[in-house]
Amino acid sequence: MKNIAVIGSGTMGNGIAHTFAQFGYPVVLIDINEEALDRGLATIVKNLDRQVSKGTITAEDKANTLQNISKSTLMRTGVAEADLIVEAATENLDLKLKIFTDLDAYAKAGTILASNTSSISITQIAAATNRGEKVIGMHFMNPVPVMKLVEVIRGYATSDETTAAVMEISSALGKSPVEVNDYPGFVANRILMPMINEAIFTLFEGVAGVHEIDTVMKLGMAHPMGPLQLADFIGLDVCLAIMNVLHDGFGNPKYAPCPLLVNMVMAGKKGVKSGEGFYDYANGPKDAKVAAKFRV
Ligand code: NAD
Repeated sequence: MKNIAVIGSGTMGNGIAHTFAQFGYPVVLIDINEEALDRGLATIVKNLDRQVSKGTITAEDKANTLQNISKSTLMRTGVAEADLIVEAATENLDLKLKIFTDLDAYAKAGTILASNTSSISITQIAAATNRGEKVIGMHFMNPVPVMKLVEVIRGYATSDETTAAVMEISSALGKSPVEVNDYPGFVANRILMPMINEAIFTLFEGVAGVHEIDTVMKLGMAHPMGPLQLADFIGLDVCLAIMNVLHDGFGNPKYAPCPLLVNMVMAGKKGVKSGEGFYDYANGPKDAKVAAKFRV
């Protein structure tokens, strides 16, 4: 596989394009409008500058990486040459089904179609195409250029050949791919989200405060960030959506989202992106103070 197309230039899409380009792959970055593409490219430049200043890449590597990236607002022409397409558009089932139906029509017959979805069924996405054996999950972690894991998710119809090709290209990006099967939450979110949900229940039931819960997990379990702050960074709306996928998918009450999480999302308290969640981010994401609501 040589030519790559990435659909969506948001948080994940620009990181995925950056990573492929840095490792020598020509990438077409595709989004719905020029503004979104410009924002994505500006983020890539900023992140490359950070890598140069840290000494992890040279100025020449930065220039080569940028040269490998082109942009397009037209999916039909943008994906025409691609051997691998990685979709990282907004997490919305109907949108992804539409994108995959279109990609199936526009891409070459042999092209592999991958989705970076956090929680939508790869099997369901594949069913929107006529090439289920070539549809797969390629779940990168944020920030993509830094995080080593790629969760490679086999849908019901994904072939061994497709899986092997995606494992191989993930390794070529310096990542450590892990192969998993397509069930709700895959592995990463099936384990992470119930832990976050349990931390929220622990707060909700008054067992301990925000700072105390996060401190126990940071100092006791060597987590780099406590679960409540991590939830704020992921987005409380995203955490709720994933808990709902687990709850609906398994029909097991142990996955019921904590009522406090539901209330916070309804109140618009979504974490870092809305300025407040369990912490207050009035002074930016690096200066988190326990939100007034949770101060004792
Ligand atoms: P985001 O909102 O930052 O970016 C989404 C981008 O998709 C936007 O730029 C939007 O304009 C674009 N888009 C929407 N419709 C499109 C279309 N029809 N064609 C092309 N582009 C379109 O979202 P994100 O956080 O980058 O998430 C993208 C995907 O990655 C989601 O499926 C999400 O679940 C998954 N994911 C996110 C994270 C994370 O930490 N943010 C981690 C792993 C996986």
